[in-house]
Amino acid sequence: MTDQPLIRAAGLTKRFTDGVSVLDRLRGREGSSITAVDDCSLSIERGETVGLVGESGCGKSTTGQLLLGLQEPTAGSVAFDGQPIAAQSAAERRRFRQETAIVFQEPFSSLDPRMTVEEIICEPLVVNDIETESERHSRARDLLDRVELSAAMATRYPHELSGGQCQRVAIARALALEPSFIVLDEPVSALDVSVQAQILSLLDELQAELELTYLCITHDLSVVSSLCDRVAVMYLGELIEVGPLERVFDAPAHPYTSALLESVPRARANERDRSIDHLEGALPSPSDPPSGCRFHTRCPKLIPPADIDIDQSTYRAIFRLRSQIARGESVALDEFDCTGCSATVTQAIEAATEALNAGDRATALDRLDTTFESVCETTPPDEHTTPHHVSCHLHADAHCRDHNCE
Ligand code: SF4
Repeated sequence: MTDQPLIRAAGLTKRFTDGVSVLDRLRGREGSSITAVDDCSLSIERGETVGLVGESGCGKSTTGQLLLGLQEPTAGSVAFDGQPIAAQSAAERRRFRQETAIVFQEPFSSLDPRMTVEEIICEPLVVNDIETESERHSRARDLLDRVELSAAMATRYPHELSGGQCQRVAIARALALEPSFIVLDEPVSALDVSVQAQILSLLDELQAELELTYLCITHDLSVVSSLCDRVAVMYLGELIEVGPLERVFDAPAHPYTSALLESVPRARANERDRSIDHLEGALPSPSDPPSGCRFHTRCPKLIPPADIDIDQSTYRAIFRLRSQIARGESVALDEFDCTGCSATVTQAIEAATEALNAGDRATALDRLDTTFESVCETTPPDEHTTPHHVSCHLHADAHCRDHNCE
């Protein structure tokens, strides 16, 4: 054991390329590629639980698989206990496999329906040729006890169990090789709410008893708040905010994190009339991510150029019009309400309207782009470490200086 973080990922990138046949290549057809995880760096200390959150399809599960060595990164590295896993010998890789485990989202489908509970729990021991049959038998009983299932369950088959019992069996199987690091991939999202609480509390107890380290992948922020010490927020394959749970949840620094937290429905009668803010639009395709900050197509705090005075809703409306013109869609720019807009904004809209009415889309778009293009569209934000790791131009020194941010 070293004093290094148990897991350290540096610049982790995973690109999937759509295979093309030799014939397609001869025809000049290129394969498309998707960057599922892009330049992610994350460390997880021993005994810590980090929650990896984001919308479906943002790269969370791929990140978990990369950390476990189940997929090869396209670039970047993962070190376990200070040692790069890419440099492991066969024996070290075997030990690493025993030190790590994963619990999947779908408890029922993650268990082999032809095996008894005891066979499922003992399978990792059998595969690794560990212990005698009678030792495995007693280990299975011990693990059933740890996950609060009776020994009588050992002879049952998965179809005889409830969803919660299946997930307890999956957890027991994950513990069979006495791992130190477990990836929990949506561990309770397929379960009833009351069962979710039981499984989360079991995971918490097991962590304390067995000194486990978890990466909890979830889209459910209530799971994060009940289990995690730190949160890593992912958007389109990038980590955009990482920090301690309380700090990120109480004072999110990234507009996407704020939007995620705002969009959570709360089970309180006095919240019935609360308006829930929706994120604008759907998650863009990772095969063609937006330029600059990848969140700019949906961001409610898109940064206008410093020389124009404009409120956010007008600025977003103009951004939508620009996107529609760029996509070749028809727009009624002459109906745009410029009441209260500055002279610069009004003149740009009028000039673009004139060009559009004359059928010159390119000039109309160019006029709007020249006046309204945001730094968020053109430049990927750097990582800023104040107040914690966050990638957003709102936290850049220059922006904060200009806008007197706290
Ligand atoms: S960089 Fe711009 S678009 Fe991205 S989150 Fe920050 S304010 Fe929004």
